[in-house]
Amino acid sequence: MSPVSSLAKTLIRPEILALHAYHVPDCAGLIKLDAMENPYLVPQPLRDEIASVVAAAHINRYPDPNPHALKEQIRLLLELPEGMDVLLGNGSDELIQLLAMAVNKPGAVLLSVEPSFVMYKMIATFIGMRYVGVPLRTNSGPSDFSLDLISTLDAIHREQPALIFLAYPNNPTGNLFSHDDVRRIIDAAPGLVVIDEAYYAFASDSFVPQLTHYPNLLVMRTFSKLGMAGLRLGFLVGSSVWLEQLEKLRLPYNVGVLPQLVAEKLLENHGVLLQQADQIKLDRAALYQQLVSMAGVEVYSSEANFLLFRVANATAVFNGLKQRGVLIKNLNGGHPMLNNCLRVTVGTPEENELFISALQDTIHQTV
Ligand SMILES: *Cc1c(COP(=O)(O)O)cnc(C)c1O
Repeated sequence: MSPVSSLAKTLIRPEILALHAYHVPDCAGLIKLDAMENPYLVPQPLRDEIASVVAAAHINRYPDPNPHALKEQIRLLLELPEGMDVLLGNGSDELIQLLAMAVNKPGAVLLSVEPSFVMYKMIATFIGMRYVGVPLRTNSGPSDFSLDLISTLDAIHREQPALIFLAYPNNPTGNLFSHDDVRRIIDAAPGLVVIDEAYYAFASDSFVPQLTHYPNLLVMRTFSKLGMAGLRLGFLVGSSVWLEQLEKLRLPYNVGVLPQLVAEKLLENHGVLLQQADQIKLDRAALYQQLVSMAGVEVYSSEANFLLFRVANATAVFNGLKQRGVLIKNLNGGHPMLNNCLRVTVGTPEENELFISALQDTIHQTV
């Protein structure tokens, strides 16, 4: 072993040595349906406006550490009542980390359900916080991947988690949990409950209206899935009492000058983004119908901009699609409940057609 690697082995925490770096596959030349991105750019006139805003930006200066105008836009969009505030993050991933760091006293627990967004567990590991994952239900049929309320409440009672994350809709399963079950969890939780609404634009429900009812509730959103994944901008809303504390942990310049300006411009035109989301919802329904009628495919219904489906041999299908120029996400091996599962992001109608015909081809070849 080289002197550097033996020093690294002694110096780096063992749980970090054991981690695999978050793998982002090479997508050059492929139709990219793996990362829940919006397939559309905004219209050219708006891109021209963005170009002139960017041209005039003061990138020689540090960004505004507290961008009031952008936060005010978000307040208005969400119709946030008095006493509630907005915390901006470099993507919502950064906010998950801030929240975990803020409550990570010795022995504190971060609880979520499984399978869900992998960053909850990863960030707990990064900062040395104990993580508890409660399995979702797996009965076949429409209640697949629903909350197991009894065992979740049991785990809350037993573990007294300081922090609970629920993705609503859930990733990678795409479903919305029962609203009433989530309320029971918020009621029972001794600590903070964060509802992660990364896919709010594609879903039929939100917990933002519940913020005033629960002192321990926060709602997190991101603009990533709505067409701004490249900007890295997420936000957390809830009582100023919580956000004031979290602000202290935020690195002062976490959101750069350009993301601030571009996000302001895009939010002035929020309607354009919501129209794109509506189109994606229509295309999701069409894609779902095609997958439902395909032999050898079991597809789950979704309130997000992706669909989860199961095949006989996910890795063979994933590779076959890739050979045919389509990149989706292989979830096989990630979690036992996701055996032979694949996740496809809804693309443009043309991309979806290419995906479907590549899938038909692949399944035909692999059986
Ligand atoms: C994509 C995703 C995020 C991460 O969003 P960023 O703002 O891009 O960091 C958070 N939560 C869930 C459930 C997601 O699927």
